[in-house]
Amino acid sequence: MEHQTMSFMGSFHPEIMAHELAHQWFGDKVTCHSWADLWLNEGFATYLSGLSYEHLSPMYWPIWKRQKVYSITSEPDGSVFCTDTVDQNRLFSSRLTYNKGAMVVHMLRWVCGDSAFYAGMRNYLDDPTLAYGTATTADLQAHLEAASGLDLDGFFADWYTGEGYPSYTTVWSQEVNNLATITLSQTTSHPSVDFFEMPVPLRFFGGGADTTVVLNNLVNDEVFSVQLPFAIDSVQFDPDIWLVSAQNFVTRVDEADAAAPGVLLHPNPAGDRISWTLPGQGQVRAVRVFDAMGRQVLEGDARSRSLSLGSLAPGGYLLELHTDEGRYRSRFIKE
Ligand SMILES: [Zn+2]
Repeated sequence: MEHQTMSFMGSFHPEIMAHELAHQWFGDKVTCHSWADLWLNEGFATYLSGLSYEHLSPMYWPIWKRQKVYSITSEPDGSVFCTDTVDQNRLFSSRLTYNKGAMVVHMLRWVCGDSAFYAGMRNYLDDPTLAYGTATTADLQAHLEAASGLDLDGFFADWYTGEGYPSYTTVWSQEVNNLATITLSQTTSHPSVDFFEMPVPLRFFGGGADTTVVLNNLVNDEVFSVQLPFAIDSVQFDPDIWLVSAQNFVTRVDEADAAAPGVLLHPNPAGDRISWTLPGQGQVRAVRVFDAMGRQVLEGDARSRSLSLGSLAPGGYLLELHTDEGRYRSRFIKE
């Protein structure tokens, strides 16, 4: 609990100390204007406890971000914006006011870039109309827009008033000259947002090297061309956890097989074994399973009509069947 120049704590965990210390600025120097702006206190104090990991114990920083994303995406709905401030459980919701609030700050940093984000935040804390007074969400937006030169209306509509989060499918292919084609598609977990416009980071690995590319994703099923200096072995989606997203999938599609039809998999979600029903009469020549990064993780027996999944960790996978009539691919979940 924060009081000007003094913090009250029930324990001395470093994360709690960082959170309460952060309130000297976010809460005490600049106070939320109304209960509806509570996330300006709690989202920031929570984010600054994360920043204490980034700077003092960097090995915990990705774990902290992953835990926040996991908490936020454990339900498909919910906004940082608080519609009913009389409902105390909602007002002090750790998932929405604290965790989603903190990750909205993190994504504002990602969208604005570090130098504009930190400049805008210093201006917000030093603004004579806000310091030792109160601030609204609109005041925060105005300072970040002034520092970055960006129009953040769309961002706040999606991430502050909107509910839920995106799930991305990344489909990639590469030609002999190492030119990669990437298609980014997303579904949203809640109908209040039809599309999250975001810069999307992808890390490409190949031949012992890697490179990270940021794709400014403005429409669904957007196609990007990226010239890479190597042949791709695998692709990692959002490797440094800048985005709130879940159930993401990365897969490779060779140009000629981009429109490969699906095959019926059962059961799906699957336990230790999955079976398939082929639409045609073709003879199966190969059975392969790829993980979310597009790496082959299993090869099946082409004479069998099912495959043991016992060795796979829970998650999303792609099963690919080569037959003498063509190629089929379908996704499944291993529980
Ligand atoms: Zn707090």
